[in-house]
Amino acid sequence: MKQNYHAIALDKKDTGEMDRLYTFYTRENGLIRVPAKSIRKSEAKLAAQVEDFVLAHITVVKNYGRGTLAGAVAEEYFDGLHMHYVALSCVDHVRKVFLTVVQEQERDEQVFGLLLAYLRKIEELSDIKDHVQNDEQIKWITYAFLIKLFGIQGYVFDVKKCVACDVLPTAQTHTVFDVHNGGMICGRCAQKTINVCAMDVDTIKSLRAIYSNHLPMLSKIVVHQTVNKQLQNIVTQIEKWIMR
Ligand SMILES: [Zn+2]
Repeated sequence: MKQNYHAIALDKKDTGEMDRLYTFYTRENGLIRVPAKSIRKSEAKLAAQVEDFVLAHITVVKNYGRGTLAGAVAEEYFDGLHMHYVALSCVDHVRKVFLTVVQEQERDEQVFGLLLAYLRKIEELSDIKDHVQNDEQIKWITYAFLIKLFGIQGYVFDVKKCVACDVLPTAQTHTVFDVHNGGMICGRCAQKTINVCAMDVDTIKSLRAIYSNHLPMLSKIVVHQTVNKQLQNIVTQIEKWIMR
């Protein structure tokens, strides 16, 4: 039995003499792992079609278990991001988090669309060379992607008001992000908590924007380096909390 998928190649592992086990995120069946026989032979053209982050049409022949990769035609290579250091390290980070939080064979077209939109945006930004603000933009889109992905997985955080006392944030409230308490906490309430991340008013605005806009829209927003640094701490805190 043959099955076709729209797939984004996420990972590969060498197995046996000439074989590999590929990990794809598919539109039709979510995260799947597929063995590919003899794909490491030098003449195997199939391997180039399923390099990391390539969007491809793949065919899997299924007799039992995971089946076997029988064919692949690349549709988008995203080769620009492979040549850009910041882009590649961001996408690599996304891959690690993605493979940790997303379960196998749980179809979710929203996740597929988000991942594809993310790769397209990073590819586009990788084309603009020698610009510091561009690196900041790549990081911003990466944090936005991760916070959206966490949201789809059920990890949504309150960034409207202090989760403990309902006070609205201002520059004077010294707001922090506290993953254990479910979001934003004002400086007064935060005295009782540990392991929190500082959040300036601009960072709070950026988080609200992430929750209320699609990813392509967010690339129109330009964020300051400080916002990115704070978002990085927030994302790290969420990751540690999810993977605890
Ligand atoms: Zn409070």
